[in-house]
Amino acid sequence: MMLRGSCHCGAVTFQVESRAPVPYLRCYCSICRKTQGGGGFSINIMGQAGSLRVNGRGNIGVYRALVEDEKRPGRKIKSPARRHFCRKCGSGLWVADPRWPRWIYPFASAIDTPLPKAEERVHVMLDSAANWVGIPRGARDIRFPEYPDESIIDWHKRHDLTAP
Ligand SMILES: [Zn+2]
Ligand SMILES: [Zn+2]
Repeated sequence: MMLRGSCHCGAVTFQVESRAPVPYLRCYCSICRKTQGGGGFSINIMGQAGSLRVNGRGNIGVYRALVEDEKRPGRKIKSPARRHFCRKCGSGLWVADPRWPRWIYPFASAIDTPLPKAEERVHVMLDSAANWVGIPRGARDIRFPEYPDESIIDWHKRHDLTAP
């Protein structure tokens, strides 16, 4: 399905094709909490990078957080993940990562097209969640201390929820 998105001030608008539009995945890591999450988490969905069309590209800033270097513990490196945001209003737009160049990961909060409601929620990076964040514990709340192995597209396939 075609997703249309924008920042809050309207300086950036974009569209992207997505086969994985269900906003089921909540990330509670410190980066998402600080940059995105009023509720302590962010929600990313997935789009096809080759279909991305952007208006107002000059207003986009890119943030690469410093993260622990897994090869050299104690050292920090720039995360390969590139968090795109509007430099005028600060809205998060999408994450792009050269390790997965076929995809971009729009924040559900940036999407204006009505999204399907997630019947199941996957809560990830809970080892990094702030203690004030209430993590739902319903039967359809799946919890992971870090990141699960299953990709966003594979979750959609397993639930038969891929969009055309
Ligand atoms: Zn803006
Ligand atoms: Zn995160």
